[in-house]
Amino acid sequence: MNFIHVQDVLQGNLVGQQTNLRGWVYRARGTKKMRFIILRDSTGIIQLTVVREEAPEAFAVAKKITIESAIEVTGIVRKDERSPGGHELQVQSLNIIHPAETFPITKDQSVSFLLNKRHLWLRSQKLSHVMKIRATLFRAFTDWFNNRGWIQVHGPMFTGSAVEGGATLFNLKYFDGQAYLTQSSQFYLETLIFSLEKVWTVAPSFRAEKSRTTRHLTEFWMLECEAAYMGLQELMRVEEELVSYCCEVIAKTHAKELEVFNIKADDLLKVQPPFKRISYTEAVEVLSKKGIEFEWGTDLGTEEERVLTQDEDLPIFVHSYPKEAKAFYHSPNPEDPKIVDCVDLLAPKGYGEIIGGGQRIHDLDILLDRIKAENLNPADYEWYVDLRRYGSVPHAGMGLGVERVIRWILELENIRDTIAYPRTINRTYP
Ligand code: ATP
Ligand code: MN
Repeated sequence: MNFIHVQDVLQGNLVGQQTNLRGWVYRARGTKKMRFIILRDSTGIIQLTVVREEAPEAFAVAKKITIESAIEVTGIVRKDERSPGGHELQVQSLNIIHPAETFPITKDQSVSFLLNKRHLWLRSQKLSHVMKIRATLFRAFTDWFNNRGWIQVHGPMFTGSAVEGGATLFNLKYFDGQAYLTQSSQFYLETLIFSLEKVWTVAPSFRAEKSRTTRHLTEFWMLECEAAYMGLQELMRVEEELVSYCCEVIAKTHAKELEVFNIKADDLLKVQPPFKRISYTEAVEVLSKKGIEFEWGTDLGTEEERVLTQDEDLPIFVHSYPKEAKAFYHSPNPEDPKIVDCVDLLAPKGYGEIIGGGQRIHDLDILLDRIKAENLNPADYEWYVDLRRYGSVPHAGMGLGVERVIRWILELENIRDTIAYPRTINRTYP
């Protein structure tokens, strides 16, 4: 048998034709004379109408059908304004591939129940839409970098040292020794600019985030890039062009799915460069005007980022943070050594940081001084420091949190609904 997809039927040019579909039972109801089954496949949902008089055998099967059973069906496509998608299938024959047991997920179940049944809950329309939009986002990354001559590389996931600091490192036994799960591929990307100049990757990042928040996972995906001779201004242009391209591709590919999240594709198309640029010092002034007491010197937290971005429609850059607020590898500003040439991109409407990046220290002595000043063990960073001995060049790079971007674009309350199997402080199941 030749099967087509629901979407092919909803396109509208098969009216009157016999077609075969296969999928899963999304809903079922009916009377003694007629059954209505909503069939779901990877492309959408469609109503199947089974009339006892016309197809008695199919009707007998339909009567005992259970939610989430796998079925295949043959019928004639009809136009029907009342059905979802404006079309239905008048069933001639119906075959159950596998009859589902009573499906545990019904309306109004608790968040923790749904998380325990994540392997089944993923079949929901909403999560299916998220998965498709997520796939499109990964495609957009690939297209954007490929079209501009960046080379995709892959760092290791087992590592021997911290990039983002020891507090969030996952330790693991590695044969007779010890290793960590990577927090970031940045240092490995930095090694590759000396041969490839402009490199990027998208990879998992593992962080033992001890606080429960709506924007932290312990395992998330990070898009990272690093380029020789790139400075802070150029990095900001890369980021705003990349982010607006991603919004554009999602808007153009998923207008219908976006509606389910109450997002207008047209609004996403308005995410265009240039994004506003403010310094950390200016951000602190804005916060103080809004009544938030914030001491110059520490990193902006969730609450500060929310206040800074809640009235914005586009992402904003905050650059030039105090040295103490950022990791040791950030380049000190040549005119003001109290600040480093770094930049975070904050998503609007309160969503906060989606990208962190900046200029890296390329001078050997400055890097060694910073490692010492932060009380880090120089032996852990020997190979990283070594890069500053053989043709070192100025360079910059960034890391974008894939799930943070999806959360902002779809305006989701919690980051866990941006990924199929969210990993958090108290969840590794299923
Ligand atoms: P935050 O301060 O928001 O916790 P960070 O400063 O620790 O983030 P970076 O080390 O700059 O984050 O990582 C780069 C990007 O990775 C961040 O801008 C963010 O988008 C994403 N990210 C960082 N930590 C997490 C996490 N635990 N879960 C999901 N995404 C994250
Ligand atoms: Mn950051």
